Amino acid sequence: MTLDNFNLSSSDREIINSFADKNAFPHTVLIEGSTPQERTDFANFLANMILCASDGKKPCGICRACIKCAANSNPDIKAYGEDKSGSSFKVELSREIRQDAFVLPNDSDKKVYILKGAQNMNDSSENALLKILEEPPRFDFFILTCESKNSMLDTILSRSSVISLGEAKREFSPQAVETAEKIALSLIGTSELATLEALSQLSAKKDMFEDTAECIKVIFTDCVKFKQTQINESAYCKTVERLCNRFSQKKLFSFLNIISRLELRFKQNANYNLLITSMCAELCDAVGK
Ligand SMILES: [Zn+2]
Repeated sequence: MTLDNFNLSSSDREIINSFADKNAFPHTVLIEGSTPQERTDFANFLANMILCASDGKKPCGICRACIKCAANSNPDIKAYGEDKSGSSFKVELSREIRQDAFVLPNDSDKKVYILKGAQNMNDSSENALLKILEEPPRFDFFILTCESKNSMLDTILSRSSVISLGEAKREFSPQAVETAEKIALSLIGTSELATLEALSQLSAKKDMFEDTAECIKVIFTDCVKFKQTQINESAYCKTVERLCNRFSQKKLFSFLNIISRLELRFKQNANYNLLITSMCAELCDAVGK
C-alpha cells in the first residue's frame, strides 16, 4: 500500500512525503472526510509511516515495525474510540490516554495513538486531551480521525496538521442499503403495492429509519448528479441508472424533498406509523400512481 491508495490532494501528498523524508512528523494529525473505514485505514497507514525504521521510502514493509504493523500487532500503536456517529468519546478515555502517554514506547523510539471518531468528543473530552497535545512527550504522536474538522474545538485544530480525504461520506448498514434501494426502485413499477411492501420492512424497525432515509437521499442525490453530469459515480450505480431511465430530474428532486421533509418530522418525534403511511402516499402521489 502507498499514499496513492488514498484520496489525497497533491499538496497533502507532498507534505506527507516531506515529513517522511525528514523523519519529522507533526505530533498531532487530524484526518477528516470520506468514510469511517477509509479514515481508519489511512490512520493505520500513517502510523506505520511514523514508526517505520527505514532511512529510505516509508513504510518500507520489511523493517521490524512494518512487519508488526502488517500483522496488526505493533505494540507502539494504540487505538481508541469508534468512528461512527452516535458513539461517545468519554472524558475518562481522554484521561486514560493522557496517563498512558508518559509510558515509554515498547519496540521503537516512537509511539502512535489513533483516536477514532474525534467528532464524538464533547468539550470536556477535548479539553482533557488538549493538555497532552499541548506538550506531548517527544516520542508521542497522535492521529485523530473525524467526519469534519469543523466539529473540533479551535484549540485542538490549532495544534493539528489537518489532512483531508475528500468529502465526508456516511456508511450505511447493509440492511439499510437493501431497504433504501428497494423503496427507491419500487417507485418504478405501476402499483402502489410494491412501495407499500418495501416500506413494510421499515415500519417494524424504527431504529432503521434514519439510516435508511439518509441512504435514500444519497441515492436520489446521486440520480440528480447523474442527470446533470452524465457521470454515474454512485455507490448504488445500478439503482441510480434504473431510476434515471424512468424519472425526470424534476421528479427525482421531488422525491428528495419528500424524504427530507419526512426525516425532519421523524426527528420531531412524529407518530411513526403515520409517518410511514405518509411516506408511501406522498411518494406514490409524486410518481403519479
Ligand atoms: Zn519499515
